[in-house]
Amino acid sequence: MDELTILVAGFSGLSCAYHFPGKTTIYEARDNVGGTAGSMEWEGFTFDYGPHISFTKDTYVQKLLAQGVKDEYVTKQVSNGNYYQGHWVRHPAICNLCDLPPETNRDALLSFIETKERESEIQNYRDWCELGQGKYFAENFTHIYTEKFWTVKPEEMTYQWVGERVAKPTLKRVIDGSLGLQTDTGYYFTEFRYPKVGGYGSYSNFWLEAKDRVNLKLNHRVTKIDLNKRILSFANQQDQEFGETLITSLPLPEFISLVVDVPESVQEAVTKLRCTSIALINIALNEQVNLPYHWFYVYDPDILTPRISIYSNISELNAPEGCTSLQAEVPYSNTRPLPVESLVERVLDDLQKMKMFNPDSILKAWQVNVKYGYVIYDQNREASLNIIHDWMRSKNVEPVGRFGLWQYLWSDQAIKSGKKLIESKFLVT
Ligand SMILES: Cc1cc2nc3c(=O)[nH]c(=O)nc-3n(C[C@H](O)[C@H](O)[C@H](O)COP(=O)(O)OP(=O)(O)OC[C@H]3O[C@@H](n4cnc5c(N)ncnc54)[C@H](O)[C@@H]3O)c2cc1C
Repeated sequence: MDELTILVAGFSGLSCAYHFPGKTTIYEARDNVGGTAGSMEWEGFTFDYGPHISFTKDTYVQKLLAQGVKDEYVTKQVSNGNYYQGHWVRHPAICNLCDLPPETNRDALLSFIETKERESEIQNYRDWCELGQGKYFAENFTHIYTEKFWTVKPEEMTYQWVGERVAKPTLKRVIDGSLGLQTDTGYYFTEFRYPKVGGYGSYSNFWLEAKDRVNLKLNHRVTKIDLNKRILSFANQQDQEFGETLITSLPLPEFISLVVDVPESVQEAVTKLRCTSIALINIALNEQVNLPYHWFYVYDPDILTPRISIYSNISELNAPEGCTSLQAEVPYSNTRPLPVESLVERVLDDLQKMKMFNPDSILKAWQVNVKYGYVIYDQNREASLNIIHDWMRSKNVEPVGRFGLWQYLWSDQAIKSGKKLIESKFLVT
């Protein structure tokens, strides 16, 4: 038996194995590594499991990712935007109001000024948006987007996760953007890196430098975990024993459902964790779309997708020459299930409204569902997590990564969560 057993081979699990100096075994259900940050390919068209780019400023992680692709990556200036009722608006829209119709620009600016003059208490994400962006903009843009992307109403969410992710500009910045005096878009990062070939998932190869220490078991879907006997069962493989510590980046609801003899309090806590799932509509086009964006957001409520990515703009090698790889995301959850109609057709119809491409150029369009998309930060999250994590740790199970810690982590943070766990738990002198 190796010194450490890890479930599964996403960026955080691979990071644990990479940073642990002894032998490890990783069990992974798929026949490849990378997890949520992995990639898929069809006839030279590459897509990720939702749009991924690396914008980390952490030089350690930058080097690690570069090592994964042998320095074969592109560095690009971010080009993102918004679609609003036939208008293309620079991103973030609140910082670039002059791209909107004049009445919308005026009303958003007035409302922003009025809001700034009012003292207000922030209870939830709705309040945060209205105070930070003005009530008019929040009601006509951000709240609509929130319901499309997060599948819940903004008042159901807390605001502690926001950080720089949602714009909260100064009055001067909004006035400049309203008058067309802005010198940049106001987005919180300007540059990103991405593998030249193979999609974002190619970065996961960073672990290969440690391959002599790592026993990677692909095609091992865990079906049962006995924490008392320390035995893992698999769909089509023999049971395996594991030692003192088990590390898991499995989504907590999956992990808990696999463990035998879970206390009722933990089972109840896990039912309170919420996240989005995402239906990805991949589209391979035999033409180059005439848009400069790497990705853009769609505010219109009658258009199902909140975000569209153009992978062949992110790296030219993500599609054959003269072609385009596009992806539209349609988030869903228990509270907002997917529409019953054919989703691919519905999304293609929506994209036609936006006149993005000639429908005759579609080579293939298909749907891939991602069960665990974004963790929803609601009022129950913290208390439920404490119950689940305390119990796991009492059983010598260490949660790691985006869905083990149940946090809004980017891939660099997932890598760092693995590094931090190994350093704090196993390398203390
Ligand atoms: C749509 C989207 C866009 C994103 N964009 C970016 C970005 O631009 N930049 C960035 O840095 N990060 C981005 N991220 C975040 C990034 O994907 C994650 O931080 C990272 O992949 C998390 O790695 P992890 O190892 O913690 O978890 P994961 O890789 O998610 O590990 C969990 C894995 O377990 C699998 N699994 C579930 N059930 C089972 C089971 N029973 N048996 C075996 N396996 C199972 C899941 O499918 C998943 O692959 C994005 C995420 C999403 C969803």
